[in-house]
Amino acid sequence: MAEDKKEAEKIARCAMCADMCKYSCPTYLATGRETLSPQKMARLIVYDEKGLLEDEKGFLDLMFQSAMCGACSRHCIYDDYDLRKFIHQARVKAFAKGVIPEDVRKRVEIFKKFGNPNGERELINKGIGDTGYFISCCSYKDEDLLKAAEKMLSKSGLAVRRFGGGDICCGAPLYYAGDMEGFRQASLKMKAEIEKRRVRRIVVDCPTCVKTMTEIYREIGVELDVEIMHTVQFIDALLEQGRLSFRRNSRSVAFHDPCILSYDLAMSGIPRKIIAALGFNLKEPIYSQEHTHCCGGAYGAKIGDHRLKDAVTSMRLKELRDAAADIYVTACPTCKSVLSEINMKYITELVAERIIAKR
Ligand code: SF4
Ligand code: SF4
Repeated sequence: MAEDKKEAEKIARCAMCADMCKYSCPTYLATGRETLSPQKMARLIVYDEKGLLEDEKGFLDLMFQSAMCGACSRHCIYDDYDLRKFIHQARVKAFAKGVIPEDVRKRVEIFKKFGNPNGERELINKGIGDTGYFISCCSYKDEDLLKAAEKMLSKSGLAVRRFGGGDICCGAPLYYAGDMEGFRQASLKMKAEIEKRRVRRIVVDCPTCVKTMTEIYREIGVELDVEIMHTVQFIDALLEQGRLSFRRNSRSVAFHDPCILSYDLAMSGIPRKIIAALGFNLKEPIYSQEHTHCCGGAYGAKIGDHRLKDAVTSMRLKELRDAAADIYVTACPTCKSVLSEINMKYITELVAERIIAKR
């Protein structure tokens, strides 16, 4: 009860705030719509809790228009506050009432049928070793990324067990849809799939998978007895151990920081270290690292409203183009696909292109 009171005080505090974090909120910046700004979202959440809203469906729809990127949390004046928690609670309510947006409903249905959000059937399961490389739903169809990963893994000399596709998924699409029972079941299935493979650590390309399998699983009481690493951490470890050698290159690279990698996992420094080790000349986009902007494909904007997603994507593309780099690189397969207009590469591809031999 005391906890509930504390939480109610936090959202009320946000609803009364000066809303300066909106100048970091990608959905507000891309559209200029005040209702999408963090403080206005918080105000509507408070009004809804008090039963003051006439159009509850309109309110719940709006809750699916946040990119759930975390920029407001990173730039919040309070250290102990994350608006996304309250937006997510509203999504849980929308799911329970059956009033989720059509796109979200379709993705949930596909997930329930196939065990993944894309309707994939083929299961990837190859190799042996106590390191696992989990091929997430957003890496699964990216042939360039998978080819680059294969090259890097084979040159590293490590035994790596690759798995993914089919009905193996961390369950994030269900979590962001507000389907907490479906998400709990998906998390238990994921845990069982990992235990079956007896790996000690798992490398994952997708920052959302990493956040989901660590922080969000913990919140629902699911603990994985393995180390979960994002790919940039793994590449960094391979470099530290001297397992890879490169042909250096002096062309310019701009790195697009995926919001979850930057805001939640605080790993912005690692890809920059890798890019420097390859000899590239780093060019920073005007909004980068802890000031990055979402690509528009984060869970939330991607599944809630396509026009909004396009506005956020256009804004980010312009910011990246303004960096005028020779090569654009990121560390999230979804960002790569959403920003494909500028030939975005996943960082493993940059690494694989430069590898010359295993030591
Ligand atoms: S998220 Fe933080 S800074 Fe932004 S409006 Fe709410 S309390 Fe204020
Ligand atoms: S999570 Fe992102 S999109 Fe949603 S309100 Fe916060 S800054 Fe805006």
